[in-house]
Amino acid sequence: MDAARGRAKETSMKPLKALLINPYIYDFAAYSFWSSPLGLLYVGSVLRRNGFNIELVDCMEVVEEKRKADGRAPFLKEKVETVPVSGQFSGRLKRYGISGQSLMEKLTQIEPPDLILVTSIMTYWYLGTHEVLGIARKVFPRAKIVLGGIYPSLCREHAFRCMTDADLIVNNNEIDKFYRFLEDSTGRTLTYKPDFHNLDGLPYPCYDLAETIPFVPLLTSYGCVYRCTYCATPYMYPEITRRKADSVIGEIRYWHDRGVERYVIYDDNFLYRSDLYAKPLLRAIAGLPFSPNIYNPNAVNAALIDDEAAHLLFAAGFREIRIGFESADPAVQRTTGGKVTSKIFEAALGALLKGGFTRDMVGAYVLAGLPRQSWEDVQRSVDYLAGLGVQAHIAEYTPIPHTPLFDQFQTMARYPIAEDPFYQNNALFPFAWEGFTEKDLAFLKSYTRAKKTLSGNLL
Ligand code: SF4
Repeated sequence: MDAARGRAKETSMKPLKALLINPYIYDFAAYSFWSSPLGLLYVGSVLRRNGFNIELVDCMEVVEEKRKADGRAPFLKEKVETVPVSGQFSGRLKRYGISGQSLMEKLTQIEPPDLILVTSIMTYWYLGTHEVLGIARKVFPRAKIVLGGIYPSLCREHAFRCMTDADLIVNNNEIDKFYRFLEDSTGRTLTYKPDFHNLDGLPYPCYDLAETIPFVPLLTSYGCVYRCTYCATPYMYPEITRRKADSVIGEIRYWHDRGVERYVIYDDNFLYRSDLYAKPLLRAIAGLPFSPNIYNPNAVNAALIDDEAAHLLFAAGFREIRIGFESADPAVQRTTGGKVTSKIFEAALGALLKGGFTRDMVGAYVLAGLPRQSWEDVQRSVDYLAGLGVQAHIAEYTPIPHTPLFDQFQTMARYPIAEDPFYQNNALFPFAWEGFTEKDLAFLKSYTRAKKTLSGNLL
């Protein structure tokens, strides 16, 4: 009798309110390459299914009038006068997204939430997260604040030490802890607690909370079969979880009905076991009565591109293909995990060209600034790619905690990267040395731009 009365009381109670915040960031350079707080919006949808009213404040606003046709756009930005940490680095720090003052004004205009969820993506952006938590705490002293995202997952102790305005800090695999916290702190039973490892069963992320939806990222898997020594994916997602083609197609149809034309796949593992997953999905996308535009900023693995996959990627609407090439040097290829060789890359390129892509639709990431790497290695890689008519994109190495390269070389960095995640920013070039200086990096960037222009003129 008491239990029944308790349940009746719960259902008659006023709905709880949750506020989702994507914080602003401090960085030396940042641009929205289809960036989006996907995990936060998934959690928002789960809460909505539990009867919460949800509101979103995305501090990472972009300059809409400068948005490109493919959906990319520059963030709002402002130079900051003082650098909020001590240390030896050059470059001018900027705040990207809205200011703390604007956030404060937005928050004071909304009805107080019961729960505030704050995400935090790159580890070295924690300064913005820290400020945003402080603002949220000040404006809503009674709300429960939860911090999640990549930063607390990779820098757990640092987050526990610094993010004292959060009532709960969760890593990416702690959804059950989050559910328990919610039930304990609100006194309400959550009726819907999906397992985040069943990607087919999750509600679609709540992009409908945004004023416009310029693109939607499609979550197709977690985890990776490869073990690249610079990458934290195997640590963050030790198991591989895949999403079925029907589920992804259902989501594309859903967003298409709401006017969305661009889709983003961040999945490095997209083509793994492609006969079972990617190929059926790509076939189904190609058979849709409309043509979505698809982008893959995170790169696909060259070793997994065969003729059929290349043809289907083109037919499904991939507007470009980015490949993680890393280096033309076999020794670097081996020491970074051996996922690609030049021979594999050339075979993948051949398949892509046969499949319908042109060379200017194919880009390859080249790593720069690895521990002990020489600048000539990067130049040779750029030359090699230019010789194939492929655009090289220099990707400056970011030391990420819980990766083999970080563990092995952290003491060689010129900043205390293990103590303060701020110094993990690749813009600070933590592994500069006399064989690869900041000047060399600047030279390589202009060299790569010039090669791009040259190969563009030849095509
Ligand atoms: S870089 Fe890509 S392929 Fe390598 S481990 Fe990470 S997710 Fe896998």
